Amino acid sequence: MTRIVVLTGAGISAESGVPTFRGAEGLWEGHRIEDVATPEAFEADPDTVQRFYDARRRALRTVGPNAAHRALARLESAYGSELLVVTQNVDDLHERAGSIRLIHMHGELRRARCTACGARPRWDDDLADRPPCPVCRRPALRPDVVWFGEMPYELARIEEAVVACDVFCAIGTSGAVYPAAGYAALASAFGAHTVELNLEPTDAVVPFDEARTGLASEAVPAWVDEMLARRAT
Ligand code: NAD
Repeated sequence: MTRIVVLTGAGISAESGVPTFRGAEGLWEGHRIEDVATPEAFEADPDTVQRFYDARRRALRTVGPNAAHRALARLESAYGSELLVVTQNVDDLHERAGSIRLIHMHGELRRARCTACGARPRWDDDLADRPPCPVCRRPALRPDVVWFGEMPYELARIEEAVVACDVFCAIGTSGAVYPAAGYAALASAFGAHTVELNLEPTDAVVPFDEARTGLASEAVPAWVDEMLARRAT
């Protein structure tokens, strides 16, 4: 049995046409992070924040998974419950490629969260026009996206998988956002082999056992093929 945890970040979706976070001088689609990805920004200017995520949600309709997302779905076909994909991404490209054992630790664009009753309904429309919550009918919906200063989802389940895994692979993540940035070191401390697949090496606090550079659409299928060959022997 080889237990694998894969942590993905915005880099895996870059070649699908979803811009990364810090790519252009720390901006996300031209916006400063503190203006669109904090509870304070939402409190100060909810319309701008809602419009920002409405645009991101609509943009998902024009993109699709790439070879890297598809390769991870292939890996799951072989490894089944021994594989867990943890994504920091709020897009839905992993599930559209076929991944099932998947945790969206930073939430999902295609979900809303009701600030009045806590419901988290699937959501594909805009939120800026303040539609009512389908559960409590109050116009209190926000994007179900984890902002800076908020608690990511399913941390206990993720940490349990990270400490128990044999192989930990980080793909397309800058390693700047905690707690995700600490998972490679945690996996390593518990004896896992750690691999990084990224366009460029990152400044990991604890170096990865292997750091491979290249496009995710090439590096991920190559790594997956290796893991599948290992499974077969
Ligand atoms: P990041 O933008 O901070 O870092 C992206 C990393 O991907 C960089 O290290 C970069 O070198 C690498 N990269 C870029 N293109 C690549 C490619 N083609 N192949 C391989 N690697 C590539 O992303 P992050 O670490 O995920 O942190 C950003 C946060 O912003 C996330 O937590 C997420 O919630 C949010 N975000 C999500 C999306 C999305 O859902 N697709 C997009 C932007 C931001």
